[in-house]
Amino acid sequence: REIQLMRLNELPAETRDGKMLSLKANIEIPEEVDAVESHGADGIGLYRSEFLFMKSSTLPDEEEQYDAYSRVISAMKRRPVTIRTLDLGGDKLMHSMNLHGGVEKNPILGWRAIRFCLSHVDIFRTQLRALLRASVHGNLRIMFPLISGVQELKEALAIFQAVKLELQQENIPIAENIPAGIMIEVPSAAMTSDLLAKRSNFFSIGTNDLIQYTLAVDRGNEHVAYLYDPLHPGIIRSLKMIIDNAHKAGISAGMCGEMAGDPLYTLILLGLGLDEFSMSSFGIPQIKQIIRSTSILEAEEFVGRVLEMDSPDAIVDFVSTTMEDKF
Ligand code: PEP
Ligand code: MG
Repeated sequence: REIQLMRLNELPAETRDGKMLSLKANIEIPEEVDAVESHGADGIGLYRSEFLFMKSSTLPDEEEQYDAYSRVISAMKRRPVTIRTLDLGGDKLMHSMNLHGGVEKNPILGWRAIRFCLSHVDIFRTQLRALLRASVHGNLRIMFPLISGVQELKEALAIFQAVKLELQQENIPIAENIPAGIMIEVPSAAMTSDLLAKRSNFFSIGTNDLIQYTLAVDRGNEHVAYLYDPLHPGIIRSLKMIIDNAHKAGISAGMCGEMAGDPLYTLILLGLGLDEFSMSSFGIPQIKQIIRSTSILEAEEFVGRVLEMDSPDAIVDFVSTTMEDKF
């Protein structure tokens, strides 16, 4: 198995009809980069930076953040490293959450992620300074979480620009042309993905939240877990719209939610045109094998049939039997 895995690491994630896909890793702490290497990821598609903030009772300062980001970026050499800015709040709480303004009635719909950062501009700026300084060590991409519309993206980008200017004035070197992308994980972002695509360098679909918000199902509540369905026609249509809008604007569409790492969905995602799959490192070899054994033509035909079905049960049956037969 080890030998098989090593052989697979050297082979590209290419379909039978020649489409090259990008397989990237999700990480939470810098120590995970070894596993990223050994499973053949061609970059990091999601580094959840909030874990640096959740592990201690005080906020990490600029130097501590710079060290962590630099470590990951250097270790990955020239391969892309996508670092997501703070996604605190909701189910990700910090020890010093008094900073966060107390208990919320609906934290999942509340003051989290980019919303939290845009109202704590000092914390956001410090993180962006650390990220930009670390950018000289390799190939950094910056990604904003939970963007819900154009206005929020404009505000985040304005702060990003201002921090860049500030560093340049201080003669601190930063990389040129650092891509700034967004997570698509709020239904209003999916619905306005044509507009958002014009202002983003890439999309990464966060299905964990997108499914939760689109189907109105708390992703952590066991009583409604049976309704949490990536194959719901509402989700598949939403994914199609997001990916099509990304491509119309000439940017790439990736996915870093759990759906990207589940082999049951690989054919659907290929058929919808997804360009980049990001998942836990350990899942990469299996997804690569599926990609290498199929063609885009076949995947598109498959999705065409799925899009015509109206019942989630029928879709689940169809998808499971097809995937079983194939792999
Ligand atoms: C997601 O929502 O799909 C995602 C990748 O982000 P997180 O799970 O950290 O909210
Ligand atoms: Mg999310």
